[in-house]
Amino acid sequence: MSTPKHCAWCNAEIAAPHTAALVEGDASMTCCSEACAVNRKHATDSNYKALIPLCTAQLKQGISAELADECYISMEAVTTSVKIEAMESTLLQICEGKGMLPSDPIEGVGVEGLSATLRLIGLKKTGRETQHGVKIGTARGALDLIQCAEYGGEHAYQVYNFCAAPAQDESDDWMRDLLNE
Ligand SMILES: [Zn+2]
Repeated sequence: MSTPKHCAWCNAEIAAPHTAALVEGDASMTCCSEACAVNRKHATDSNYKALIPLCTAQLKQGISAELADECYISMEAVTTSVKIEAMESTLLQICEGKGMLPSDPIEGVGVEGLSATLRLIGLKKTGRETQHGVKIGTARGALDLIQCAEYGGEHAYQVYNFCAAPAQDESDDWMRDLLNE
């Protein structure tokens, strides 16, 4: 078996012996470092290769006011244009690859914005892990790992969503989360 020449994540040349193989025996899945191997694993788990086409198709189609109101669930009075804006921003960020890695999550759309967008493109949430007190840039907040899947489909996805800590009380958060499970 020939030695792989490039890292499966950063594409850097790998001097033998290589340091981390993601899948044992699979030379095409060999990375130059542990950090690259972790990123490559996140990228594989995210399944963005299949998720991005769903988002570009939705952006092309546009988001009607009816769809926005149907998909975006909130306890607060959110205007339809704000709902559409949040969903468009989420779709665009995913198309740019944001949300694939915990170090580069989706930002500025909140729990509601991401939940609405997943509904919009026909996905259901299947899991959620929240890390509190995470710092992204200068902002501190919660980092959600949202797992989702197609209804009756075979594809599963995962997306990292950063929600900057707002000044709001905890009962509100609890209700919001419940509504968007
Ligand atoms: Zn690398």
